[in-house]
Amino acid sequence: MKEKLLVYSMDALVHEDLEYLRTKPNFSRLMADCAEVEHIRTVYPSLTYPAHVSIATGCRPGKHGIISNTSFQTVNDGKVNWLLSSDLIQAEDIYAAAKRAGCTTASVYWPVMGNNPNIDYLINEYFFPDPGESILDGFARQGASEDALKAVKDNLDRFPVHHTKEILSKDTTFDDFINGCACSMIRRYQPDLLLIHNCYMDTTRHRYGLFTEHNSLCLDYLDEWLGELTAAMEDAGIYETTNFVLLSDHGQLDFVRRIKPNVLLCRGGFIDRNADGTVRSWRAFAQSNGMSFSVYLKDPKDAELHRQVFEYLNKLADDGVWGFEQIQTAEEVKGRYGLYGPFSFLAETDGYSAFADSWEEPVLNPIDLTDYRLGKATHGYQPEKGPQPVFLGRGPAFRAGARLERGEIIDEAPTFAKILGAELPDAEGTCMSELLR
Ligand SMILES: [Zn+2]
Repeated sequence: MKEKLLVYSMDALVHEDLEYLRTKPNFSRLMADCAEVEHIRTVYPSLTYPAHVSIATGCRPGKHGIISNTSFQTVNDGKVNWLLSSDLIQAEDIYAAAKRAGCTTASVYWPVMGNNPNIDYLINEYFFPDPGESILDGFARQGASEDALKAVKDNLDRFPVHHTKEILSKDTTFDDFINGCACSMIRRYQPDLLLIHNCYMDTTRHRYGLFTEHNSLCLDYLDEWLGELTAAMEDAGIYETTNFVLLSDHGQLDFVRRIKPNVLLCRGGFIDRNADGTVRSWRAFAQSNGMSFSVYLKDPKDAELHRQVFEYLNKLADDGVWGFEQIQTAEEVKGRYGLYGPFSFLAETDGYSAFADSWEEPVLNPIDLTDYRLGKATHGYQPEKGPQPVFLGRGPAFRAGARLERGEIIDEAPTFAKILGAELPDAEGTCMSELLR
């Protein structure tokens, strides 16, 4: 019987969480004798969308083109422009490789997979319907087939109609709905490749901090969700033939200050504001990555502007009070991290500060729990910092008890390709063959 691959991403799960998880019944049963990477290095910036696309393509953000969670914008229209559509990805992903190898494919809330032509059963990461749009129409617009919509219909009662700021309850986030949809897909279709993305731990850490008394509740829920998936695999008769991978995309770090670099760029004369606060014109503009920020130049080829902005940012870094200590040029981050794109500079946190996009004074942002980047902990910093994400695998392809000391997120897609008997020729990572039989 053909082996299957089910990849479950628990956003912002870190190595330190495993000690508690090992005491939980479903995790300890499902992941008994698993193969494991002890230290997984993520990408720069350590953000959900760049990292998940790296997990799915085996390429760093420069090559796959998803360098942030949202598109660069200099208007504040209250909208967050999430990067939802798979045609934004410039590298081949595991779904294309799996289809070539004759696999059936499925995705539940994996980032940046909207309308991916290589996913047979697609429920794209998606939050609330547009005005006048039903939940089903919203998923259909982003590529859900009639068959995929059946999995949504099975679980509509788990869609969080009453989304609230209080997240310590499963029915106010999307994650319980996501798990239900994945189980429906397993029972109905037994896809050969299924990627699932659950954000519960990430949301909780943003809100309350990296290591808090709330973590064990998240891990209790995670264990319940793993139990539900195990039951679905058993019902479908695929438990023994399924390779199950539990992984994550990045860790988080607590921070204590929220800085608005665009206010500093206004003060430096690189952004002009109208009386109503809107941007009249700009020559340099920052986009927050949480605990780093990218700086875009209106004309990136303007050498004099490049020199002025670099000098200004370095002077600010030397001031030692604005929350960033390192100005990296685009060439430096390309060489060191494989990160490139239309930005010209990247500034890294001092370890205590996160950044907001707003250009409205004051430069220090008040606490704002409505912005996911501005809670008590976040990410987006250099990948070598903080607690590291996880990678554990069990099933017929994995060598029971195998330990690999170190791997990279970009090694995961080549490992998946190997398990599926597929080829992913453009990947920058390599298969973690020490984990496999
Ligand atoms: Zn994430």
